[in-house]
Amino acid sequence: MPRERENLMVTKEMMRKCLGKIKLMAYCPAGEPEVWSLLAQELNELCADDSVASELIAKLLDYERWPGVGELRRLAQAQQRARKIAAMLQQARAERDRHEQECPGYTIICNEAEHVVEVRTCNRSFNEPSLDWEWVICGRSEGINISELERAELAKRPGWISREEHVKRLIAEERRKRWI
Ligand SMILES: [Zn+2]
Repeated sequence: MPRERENLMVTKEMMRKCLGKIKLMAYCPAGEPEVWSLLAQELNELCADDSVASELIAKLLDYERWPGVGELRRLAQAQQRARKIAAMLQQARAERDRHEQECPGYTIICNEAEHVVEVRTCNRSFNEPSLDWEWVICGRSEGINISELERAELAKRPGWISREEHVKRLIAEERRKRWI
């Protein structure tokens, strides 16, 4: 067994507690000693450590009766997935927090060739959006007044225009060309 696995397993004490709780359930596989030893083996394979085992058994006890090993495995899989998602979320939130400490919430883009100023809010995301978990994004752009920032930037640059104005002019020019 690799070294890092040494403290990652269900202790005998926890296993006794888990099996004891399963014995409280209606229709539990009572009696046969080898059934209990197989069940202990199963729990050891499904649970990385005591905290996982304790959580799994707590979920199992929500059932009115012993649901069988198949359901125990499904519960363990769901638990593993939930733990993985929680860990990924925690990491994404920590990354976002680090980013937010430095991020002003926007970027000013100056197109020197066309004399166009554009202010873009920061919408950086730190995880993939998915149906069953939170999308962690930078929150620094909240309440930022883009046009105010743009006006301040334009005041510093006489003759420059905003991106919005630039696009308007391009469209007008395009229309003019079509009518000629
Ligand atoms: Zn940001």
